[in-house]
Amino acid sequence: MATGKHFKYIVLGGGVSGGYAAREFAKQGVQPGELAIISKEAVAPYERPALSKAYLFPQSPARLPGFHVCVGSGGERLLPEWYSEKGIELILSTEIVKADLASKTLTSSAGATFTYEILLIATGSSVIKLSDFGTQGADSNNILYLREVDDADKLYAAIQAKKGGKAVVVGGGYIGLELSAVLKMNNLDVTMVFPEPWCMPRLFTAEIAAFYESYYTNKGVKIVKGTVAVGFDADANGDVTAVKLKDGSVLEADIVVVGVGGRPLTGLFKGQVAEEKGGIKTDAFFETSVPGVYAVGDVATFPMKIYDDVRRVEHVDHSRKSAEQAVKAIKGKEAGSAVAEYDYLPYFYSRSFDLSWQFYGDNVGDAILFGDADPSSAKPKFGSYWVKDGKCVGVFLEGGSPDENGAIAKLARDQPPAASPAELKAAGLQFATSKI
Ligand code: FAD
Repeated sequence: MATGKHFKYIVLGGGVSGGYAAREFAKQGVQPGELAIISKEAVAPYERPALSKAYLFPQSPARLPGFHVCVGSGGERLLPEWYSEKGIELILSTEIVKADLASKTLTSSAGATFTYEILLIATGSSVIKLSDFGTQGADSNNILYLREVDDADKLYAAIQAKKGGKAVVVGGGYIGLELSAVLKMNNLDVTMVFPEPWCMPRLFTAEIAAFYESYYTNKGVKIVKGTVAVGFDADANGDVTAVKLKDGSVLEADIVVVGVGGRPLTGLFKGQVAEEKGGIKTDAFFETSVPGVYAVGDVATFPMKIYDDVRRVEHVDHSRKSAEQAVKAIKGKEAGSAVAEYDYLPYFYSRSFDLSWQFYGDNVGDAILFGDADPSSAKPKFGSYWVKDGKCVGVFLEGGSPDENGAIAKLARDQPPAASPAELKAAGLQFATSKI
């Protein structure tokens, strides 16, 4: 019979938020044995975005321990030894299958129990699988997904096994775009399929998307839009051989990678905490409706002060900052000291091939494209402003320098009055850089 363990603080989830929470706890001061991080994964917290980028590079791919947190934000790398040095218990390969917030008890799949005084929920998201919708043949071999390092290892092995073969990427979001690029860099014959009229429709305008689609096409990636995968063929071994599309066409495939979105992992807490917009509802300190229970990262729906709204954000920058905010709030409460409300400016980035973009703010209102968005330029550099109610509320920039990215971040935060669309277009990036 497994025995129980008690901790003052438990962080449930050893992903990005879990790692940044651990660092903040160490900074604020924890006694040895007070804090545990419990994670389903077998490795210490790491920078998840690396999995769809450098982890799959054909040359010198990134591997752990190289990208443990907190290298992504330019901080000290927290190796497994760091946790033991700080007296923080890292409980890995342990899936929690039951959470009872009333008795403050978590139960693992092996039957171990963990009790706490303060709980920080940092369970992140799980990928949406085509088998969830009963798509025919979706459980064939080499139909792969990407969320954790184990998934990335499977994808890497498939890339090695199918050298020079055909890959189909299902989904046109940032995961689909990053994976298509890295599969192409591995010399696979890559086709991307997605139902929308252009890629990344949640952020990109048609004009922004046109640049990336042409750039990808020039690199040899084929793009099939406006249709979806409705089934898969497999050979006698169960290995996928083809993707059947709704429009009746068939794409040969040795590897299929599906990136059609995620779902926040809130299931353990259903009926026990208030929820909103698909996530666990928190205040500006990430405390949930249950006192002493906090939720951060992908699972939290929090007040977005800058827009007087409540939102859930699935981006790495927020997972880091929300974890830090929650820990500051926990320790501040204990010390009786005030902590400022979370005041987050949305920030999202992606990198693929030689491209790199950043986005800050809100992509609402009218979008005004500026700069050189010619995909055949030697060094394309362009962006878009979003203008709402006469104010510049969001900025996207491809190919910006650190200073220029700093300038667009400031602009999105300050929301200055915008010039006319023609003037903004003519001023281009200078509209942002002139304001710093
Ligand atoms: P996660 O980092 O997912 O961590 C959750 C952890 O909880 C995992 O270790 C999980 O195993 C564990 N867990 C879950 N349930 C349980 C349980 N019941 N018991 C025990 N452990 C559990 N964002 C960007 O802004 N830019 C990018 O370029 C970018 N690239 C990405 C690339 C990939 C491949 C992926 C998957 C995501 C990417 N993201 C990117 C999104 C970003 O990584 C996430 O928003 C961030 O990781 C969320 O942090 P989190 O701590 O909430 O969740």
